[in-house]
Amino acid sequence: MLNVEPIKAFTDNYIWLVSTNEGSIVIDPGESENIQKLIDNKIIDLKGILITHHHYDHTNGLSDLVKKNKLGVFGPVNDIDGIDHRLSDKDKISIIGIDFDIISIPGHTLDHIGFYSANAGNPILFCGDTLFAGGCGRIFEGTYEQMFNSLKKITKLPTNTNIYCGHEYTLSNLKFALEADDANKELIEEFKQVENKINLNTPSLPTRLDKELEVNPFLRCDNINIQNKIIEKFNVSDNELEIFTALRKWKDNF
Ligand SMILES: [Zn+2]
Repeated sequence: MLNVEPIKAFTDNYIWLVSTNEGSIVIDPGESENIQKLIDNKIIDLKGILITHHHYDHTNGLSDLVKKNKLGVFGPVNDIDGIDHRLSDKDKISIIGIDFDIISIPGHTLDHIGFYSANAGNPILFCGDTLFAGGCGRIFEGTYEQMFNSLKKITKLPTNTNIYCGHEYTLSNLKFALEADDANKELIEEFKQVENKINLNTPSLPTRLDKELEVNPFLRCDNINIQNKIIEKFNVSDNELEIFTALRKWKDNF
């Protein structure tokens, strides 16, 4: 039995806490305080930490947790101290009874990886700041083409994959999505549902790949309505990568 819960951090980060009968792991601990409280109160038996990329809001709690607890720390190849298992594309790891496949998904950062598991009931993906519900991460270090290909890689996973993203950005992402894809009925419906959740202070995550394929404009650059909108607005060709690039730049300034 597998359970996934969010621990809120900073203003809109989620640290994901994953537990099985073999213990718990956390993904991207930007802070340590609330996690250490759960350990000290014997609510969780923390066995390890997974890191998706080097940004401080995903790694800042790492050094404290490693100092106070005996943990396995899995993450990408970067210069963050405390990662004792460096992972690359197609690597496999097993922890608390869950088998994860590592997928390299650069673009937001160059070191960015995702953790995918198909042996957890419904498949699950922890994708950090690459795919967001209704959007995608900003391109800080990689190229637009790298980000485009990383998102394509995610769309090849089973459509019932539950996706756990690093931030609660869904409502503002969907506001932008409605600009780019205003005739999309599923998107209009999804916006209302997410708005209700946020009003109730309920996380909008996880999302699911099949839903994202219906509402997320960054996964829909082959859609004729989105293409027409972008071509009209930015005078680009109907090449999917060009559409994606124009869409991402539009969102940066939205
Ligand atoms: Zn980031």
